[in-house]
Amino acid sequence: MKLPALAWRTIHRTQNRWWDLRATLAGYCNDRPVKTGVPGETNGYAHWRCALKRGHDGLHRYRNAVWLSGCRVDHEPVDMPPGQPWERAATPTIRQARNARRWHEEQAVARRARLREQGLLP
Ligand SMILES: [Zn+2]
Repeated sequence: MKLPALAWRTIHRTQNRWWDLRATLAGYCNDRPVKTGVPGETNGYAHWRCALKRGHDGLHRYRNAVWLSGCRVDHEPVDMPPGQPWERAATPTIRQARNARRWHEEQAVARRARLREQGLLP
């Protein structure tokens, strides 16, 4: 059976929220490097979650990636990276998808204005 993309997105969002809730209840920090979903905000991935326990000191960590809240992600390998038992899908939340769509629309408007200014568009 082939499910439409909208169904997969809904399933992955629901799974992500359920696993985020479970991780929070299990005492994980669960911070994510991608907060708003605006492209170029950070260089992390949407499915990364901090695998350290809540209230930890220092940087958040997903495997060999570390970050401070709201900052860019760095690569800092360790021998035994901590993990969570649940892997999230890279599906953005509704808010993140809306923010990304608005950002792309703003870029398109700015680009059209720039091209009009240069006389390349009527
Ligand atoms: Zn953390």
